[in-house]
Amino acid sequence: MKTYLRVLRFANPLYKYAIPYFFLSLLTAAFGVINLSLLIPLLDTLFKNTSEFELQFLLSEPGPAFNLHFFIENFNYYFAWVVVAYGKLGALQFICISIVCSVLVSNICFYLARRVIEYMRANTIQNVREALYSHVLKLDLSYFSETRKGDIISRATTDVKEIEVTIADTLDVTFKEPLAINAFFVALFHISVELTLFTLLVIPIAGITIGFLSKRLKSRAKSTQEVIGMIVSILDETLGGLRVIKGFNAQPYIKQKFDKENQYYTNLMKSMARIRELASPLSETLGVMVVAGILLYGGSLVLSEDSDLTASAFIAYILIFSQILSPAKKMANAISRIQRGMAAAERIFKIMDAEPQIQDVSNAVKLTEFQKSIEFKEVSFRYEEDWVLKDINFTLEKGKTIALVGPSGSGKSTISDLIPRFYEVQKGQVLIDHQDIRDIELTSLIAQMGIVSQDTILFNDTVFNNIAFGNIQATQEDVEQAAKIANAHEFITKFTNGYETVIGDRGLKMAGGQRQRIAIARAILKNPPILILDEATSALDAENEKLVQEALYKLMQNRTSLVIAHRLSTIQNADEILVMQKGEIIERGTHQSLMQEEGLYNKLKTMQAL
Ligand code: ADP
Repeated sequence: MKTYLRVLRFANPLYKYAIPYFFLSLLTAAFGVINLSLLIPLLDTLFKNTSEFELQFLLSEPGPAFNLHFFIENFNYYFAWVVVAYGKLGALQFICISIVCSVLVSNICFYLARRVIEYMRANTIQNVREALYSHVLKLDLSYFSETRKGDIISRATTDVKEIEVTIADTLDVTFKEPLAINAFFVALFHISVELTLFTLLVIPIAGITIGFLSKRLKSRAKSTQEVIGMIVSILDETLGGLRVIKGFNAQPYIKQKFDKENQYYTNLMKSMARIRELASPLSETLGVMVVAGILLYGGSLVLSEDSDLTASAFIAYILIFSQILSPAKKMANAISRIQRGMAAAERIFKIMDAEPQIQDVSNAVKLTEFQKSIEFKEVSFRYEEDWVLKDINFTLEKGKTIALVGPSGSGKSTISDLIPRFYEVQKGQVLIDHQDIRDIELTSLIAQMGIVSQDTILFNDTVFNNIAFGNIQATQEDVEQAAKIANAHEFITKFTNGYETVIGDRGLKMAGGQRQRIAIARAILKNPPILILDEATSALDAENEKLVQEALYKLMQNRTSLVIAHRLSTIQNADEILVMQKGEIIERGTHQSLMQEEGLYNKLKTMQAL
């Protein structure tokens, strides 16, 4: 129930939809019943003698109070008058015109009610998606290493879709169907109290059986959603790693993984189908059994002398009763769909409730200008069990460059991720201008930094937008200027659409060196005082490497830089070089001093020279 109310909160403001929907449904239901009730005078016209109508006209007169009874009395009175005045054919015309009018009103109301509900559905789902997406953007990087990407994608797509169905059902279950059922019961009681009481005894038996089935469906539906999440995950991994899969002839392995989930899903679907498909024939049979019971009991009432149930009224009764089953069935279905929707909603809320660990403290200060230094003070860090950084100390003065070198997995990228607070240190402090970065407003902290990483992330958008990226004030000139400094202008203008060329998903249409230069241009345009550089030139050919390297030098000018160096030749001018191994700084100094030490740096340098 809590989940349910929470979903409804996204239909903001609810009353805007609920109130018109309530009244429109009320009218739809009322006119729906009137349609069927008009059958009684129709049948009477066909079966009764005119003299009976004359008697009815003389005996009845409009009642004084304005209620249902008054309405019916009035109708009977005027209808008898129509028969007397215009004959049976005239009465038939009158009835048919009444039926058409009432169907028209009922359907117009129905149409308007559907519109209200569809608007509500569209707006609510928009709100849910928006809330989910903006929450995902807020979550820390660490959240995504623990939770599978496919899982989140499946929640944002199929689960949201599930909720979408639920929302329309909600109003139906609360207003439309109960109103329809009530309206029908009012008519039924009016025709025969005795028969209706009998009906009320037999209906629950059918209801309980169907309720039992829908409960069993719900638990299976939950599992199917989870399996779909797995399948999307595998697909995502496969598409991302096609090159590796093919290169290692790993198709059978990955396919086996996929087949296993696929098979599990199929089994679940079959088991669900067995129950779901049982529901319809079962309810049909039960329905007919109930109707047969009513026919038997009601028929005997018509035949008996002491009941005033007429044959026409009984036929109308059966017709109205047959209409009750439909909203009752719809309600039961809707309730089971709502339960499915709630399972989906719970999964979505689980993401929305994941608190970002890294947030501004209440009295966070704004970093307006970077002035002095970045300092790591006895920093230790771990992702999981093992410490990947141990007692790291260094100071990067403004305007200087520090380079991190060392074997892969030694913790270089982790250090660079701690400065923009992508992760939080567990021991020690990272200070900027002597201020712990945990006390600095996050956006103001990151505003001071430009990050160019090894896996240059480009988005499926134009070159222009990829360079301007989020900077809406950037003009064409600014972007071109940045691209020129980054040695990118030349190759961009060679594209057919120049800066308006749309680069493929993650920049796949471009060569590695080109992607990198676009990323460098992006950092140049941002013009940050602090630069974090994962210098990845190793995968490039000599020509491209030279161009990228040049671009990087230009980017680093007059900035404070932390560079993760893969090619030792490129960082010889760094003010300090930190040599990392297994999460520790094992050597530090300038290029010259480290070369004299004959330690790891010297060894790495000699190996690269070879
Ligand atoms: P480098 O940049 O020097 O290659 P990293 O900083 O990337 O090293 O990694 C340091 C250690 O932390 C490695 O052992 C790596 O396996 C581990 N590691 C890196 N990222 C994560 C992560 N998101 N979750 C868990 N462990 C990680």
